[in-house]
Amino acid sequence: MFDEGDLAVRASRCNIRLAWVQGNGVNMPDCFPTDRHGWSELLPERQGTRSLSGAHRVAWAVVGAGVTGLACARRLAALHPDQDITLLDARLVGQGASGRNSGFAVAVSHFGGGFEADRMASYRRVNRINQAGLDLLRTQVAAFGIDCQWREDGFIHTAADRPAVRECGHFLRYLEAMEIAHTPLDAEALTARLGTALYQAGVHLHEGALLQPAALVRGLADSLPANVKLHERSPVLGIAQGAPLTLRLPNGEVRTDNLVLASNYEVAKLGFLRRYVVGSTLSGSFTRVLTDEEVAGVGSQKEWGTLSLHSGGATLRLTRDRRISLRNAAEYHGGALLSDTQLARRQAIHRAAFEKRYPQLAHVPFEHGWSCVEGISRNMTNFFGRQADNIFLAGGYNGSGVSRGTAFGTALADYASGGDSPLIDDCLASTPGAWIPPRPLLDIGAYLTVRSRFRGVGLDR
Ligand SMILES: Cc1cc2nc3c(=O)[nH]c(=O)nc-3n(C[C@H](O)[C@H](O)[C@H](O)COP(=O)(O)OP(=O)(O)OC[C@H]3O[C@@H](n4cnc5c(N)ncnc54)[C@H](O)[C@@H]3O)c2cc1C
Repeated sequence: MFDEGDLAVRASRCNIRLAWVQGNGVNMPDCFPTDRHGWSELLPERQGTRSLSGAHRVAWAVVGAGVTGLACARRLAALHPDQDITLLDARLVGQGASGRNSGFAVAVSHFGGGFEADRMASYRRVNRINQAGLDLLRTQVAAFGIDCQWREDGFIHTAADRPAVRECGHFLRYLEAMEIAHTPLDAEALTARLGTALYQAGVHLHEGALLQPAALVRGLADSLPANVKLHERSPVLGIAQGAPLTLRLPNGEVRTDNLVLASNYEVAKLGFLRRYVVGSTLSGSFTRVLTDEEVAGVGSQKEWGTLSLHSGGATLRLTRDRRISLRNAAEYHGGALLSDTQLARRQAIHRAAFEKRYPQLAHVPFEHGWSCVEGISRNMTNFFGRQADNIFLAGGYNGSGVSRGTAFGTALADYASGGDSPLIDDCLASTPGAWIPPRPLLDIGAYLTVRSRFRGVGLDR
């Protein structure tokens, strides 16, 4: 489908430097940068597996070791016990979105706006995918003894101002119509549970899990079956078509019969979904560990998580290790992480939001800040399926990919192996992505795509 020349064109379009294609080596940090990672910083340092070097020939290669790629590789290994599966990640496991998110594994999605009875089949389809991913994660966490602070008693959706309270009404109608287990909460109940007087209304969803995302993906990576070979710090710089396909890396190559792309918004760097997924940069902060007295003032539960009923509102956690994490800034930043200076500025926004909620903790400093890029589409859809004869792709979950990415990755392994299942049908039924215009309009389109999601956030920033 494309030759070495095409490869160079693809590489230039997607910002991967042509130096490697020309054989001069490549400046890795420019292509796949990393920095401070939030949740990973709370864990011991990770050494990582060996980066790929030399020439390899395999039946299956998976690019990206986030929740999607990890789930896909695990399932491929079970389906093809006699074949080798190579799993490649440009960074260390835990440094991508799967290790930096807020740690909500949802079972039930919140679809913004009024409840529409004629969309019930579509709501159910998405929730079946979420539930499948949550079930898989629960099973894997238990089977491999993954120590990731897994807690499965749901979380709270919150509303701080009138528009959000109205949205809470829509959400309650949806939950009732769909017969989804929940408990409506008034301002008093929310203050008792969360220790802040900011919220006027909310809902406790009974299904769903909270977890430490970096610990989860590290545990999943470290428990992969023996026929999966994980190579971290192994960026795929280009793909040359042929039978087999050839993946080019800085110090080697992989020839593979089948390729799965699980590289989220960065799949555009390899020339796929370039006009359909953009990276939205989010940022947040963690406090230091709270004292007994401080923790007694932030609600009646030992751990909790809140999601805003405004899609751009703040996400909060009281973690098992007694920190508060708050994520409330989101912007279009060219799909890149924030610099230290930019992050320091965003931390002033995090700080204001924290003190608005917890004036009693104004003396508690932040200990870590982090930014992270999530893949979003213009019409909030996800991507699943075949891109070419033997190239498959799943990704772009619009900020809700922990359980969904696990389900998509697992289903994609089955689909790519010729399988058939209700989960595959559900994933294939995702609405086609809406087109985002090319550069320079891409930047404007991407900016507006991100802006529209976070517009009018009001008091819940
Ligand atoms: C701040 C934030 C909070 C979020 N909170 C939640 C939440 O609470 N719950 C929820 O469900 N979702 C949340 N999300 C979204 C969720 O994190 C993502 O949807 C999910 O992690 C996507 O998983 P993935 O495996 O598809 O992609 P990723 O986790 O991004 O993994 C892709 C991997 O591919 C690698 N890669 C990319 N290109 C290449 C290449 N060329 N060669 C080799 N490797 C490559 C990357 O290094 C990366 O590790 C949040 C996102 C953000 C940013």
